[in-house]
Amino acid sequence: MPFTGNRYDQERGKEEEIEDWEKRLGSQEASYINLPMNKEEYETFYKELVSAEVVTLHEFEKREIFEGCMPIEIMAKRGEDTLRFGPLKPVGFTDPRTTRRPYAVVQLRQDDVNGTIYNLVGFQTNLKYGEQKRVFSHIPGLANAEFVKYGVMHRNTYINSSELLDNTYCLKKNPNIYFAGQITGVEGYVESISSGMVVGLNVVNKLQGKEKIEFPKNTMIGALANYIATPNEKFQPMNANFGILPELGERIKDKKVKYGKLADRAIEALNAIK
Ligand SMILES: Cc1cc2nc3c(=O)[nH]c(=O)nc-3n(C[C@H](O)[C@H](O)[C@H](O)COP(=O)(O)OP(=O)(O)OC[C@H]3O[C@@H](n4cnc5c(N)ncnc54)[C@H](O)[C@@H]3O)c2cc1C
Repeated sequence: MPFTGNRYDQERGKEEEIEDWEKRLGSQEASYINLPMNKEEYETFYKELVSAEVVTLHEFEKREIFEGCMPIEIMAKRGEDTLRFGPLKPVGFTDPRTTRRPYAVVQLRQDDVNGTIYNLVGFQTNLKYGEQKRVFSHIPGLANAEFVKYGVMHRNTYINSSELLDNTYCLKKNPNIYFAGQITGVEGYVESISSGMVVGLNVVNKLQGKEKIEFPKNTMIGALANYIATPNEKFQPMNANFGILPELGERIKDKKVKYGKLADRAIEALNAIK
């Protein structure tokens, strides 16, 4: 059982995702397993987690932790309920045994085609391997699980783009050099691809003697490129998220409507690029 849950699950709107999971669970294609916990089970798991032994990091491994990659044990130490508002959030779930909302929910996501391996969603961790097995076995349903792969935190290396790059990922001091991908401080697959695309288009344009292409700030591609290129003493990797887009001129409470409008605005801005 691999433990490197996908941190991106924590970042995408959890509630929307849960709706999606519940839909999936109702269909034949269920690729998630929910492990509901009652209060007592959660508290036992919590106590074991916060007192478990972690790996001693080498000096070069120590760094500020990207919020989206927060190890589960560090998140837990922020407060007893923190996990219940994060990766173990029970909103949207009903425990079929009690017909009530569970106290917390751990989710397993299918990891191989045969459905024999699952990973724990949102469980980045620095716990020692033996501790991972011991602590995670306290999760209801996992007492007899076989652990085939353990979680390991990864290091994210990036340059200080906020000083070095412009919003086309071009080195300010040498316009013949571009950077793309996570080395620039974008975080994630699509984000890395988007930076590569901006670079690719701009390199071609430059070779053809054309103007540089700057994506509008109100598109996600442009917002990310601008975040990267904006001076920031506390520069940290950034993933695509609605928070980096400029606000709409109006206050909209319903997130779906708001995000829809932000997307429409971005498409309009893209269509306006010549
Ligand atoms: C464990 C883990 C889980 C992740 N999960 C997700 C996820 O679920 N969703 C998501 O969006 N993102 C995830 N990410 C982040 C994502 O993998 C990266 O953001 C993305 O792959 C970065 O793309 P990149 O092209 O910049 O770099 P990479 O994908 O790292 O590509 C760099 C390439 O350069 C090669 N290379 C390095 N040095 C040299 C050299 N000197 N010469 C030649 N080649 C070289 C490397 O071998 C590699 O192939 C995860 C990352 C990790 C480590």
